[in-house]
Amino acid sequence: MTTDDHKRLTRLYIPRETITGGESVELSEGQHHYLRNVMRLKAGDGLRLFNGRNGEWLGEVVEITKKKALVSLSQKIHEQESSPDVWVLASPVKKEAFDFMIEKSTELGAARFLPITCEHTVVHRVNQSRLQAVSVEAAEQSERLDIMEVADLAALKNIVNSWGSKRKLIFCLERGDAPPLMQALAKIPADSPLAVLVGPEGGFSAEEAAFIVALDYAVPVSLGPRILKAETALVAALACVQGVRGD
Ligand code: SAM
Repeated sequence: MTTDDHKRLTRLYIPRETITGGESVELSEGQHHYLRNVMRLKAGDGLRLFNGRNGEWLGEVVEITKKKALVSLSQKIHEQESSPDVWVLASPVKKEAFDFMIEKSTELGAARFLPITCEHTVVHRVNQSRLQAVSVEAAEQSERLDIMEVADLAALKNIVNSWGSKRKLIFCLERGDAPPLMQALAKIPADSPLAVLVGPEGGFSAEEAAFIVALDYAVPVSLGPRILKAETALVAALACVQGVRGD
């Protein structure tokens, strides 16, 4: 089988500590349903499996019945690669838009996603495990080899109070005289870990913006003259950051 043939195989994340090859794994209920009823795979069919740590592996369906799906892992087809050390901090918005933010952050290679509450945040509850599952699905589809970690919802002020000072915080500021993102990125050392901060639909309060601007690791940036939806701002900022970082 060639590398091109592998590309057509269903790709699944399996939450295992290690993959060494030769082992058999029982799939979760959701994956069992997906393989049997959606993809209609049968015993003997091939698939690709990864655990976010040990690269991507070729596998085969050993058994698929009404009750369970068992797959075996044979040969490693991709060595492990890690995404750049870029985090996203974003405030929850309505469900579809926030799922979109999680999905696009995963596709664009963010390492970690931290849902945050700001003064103007309207949505104050998120289902972390559902969001993590959205991200895992995006990792499967985008051929990512590692998993973007989705953190629990936390207040922005609590997060910045325990910040490791080496990580620059790219602060997307919708109004004010912040320099353009690309200009600001050119001044940040290429090996500096980064985080991109995007506010809620209502934007940042004046007091909150002043508090963040005063942090010595914050880098206020503009994404242009128009006011973007939070999800547009996130995709635009992350694409520029990853582009500059060579991702
Ligand atoms: N309601 C706010 C207002 O009218 O000023 C707009 C908030 S905007 C919908 C949501 C978030 O996207 C902002 O908090 C900011 O982080 C980001 N954003 C949107 N447009 C931006 C721009 N032109 N430059 C930088 N950040 C922007």
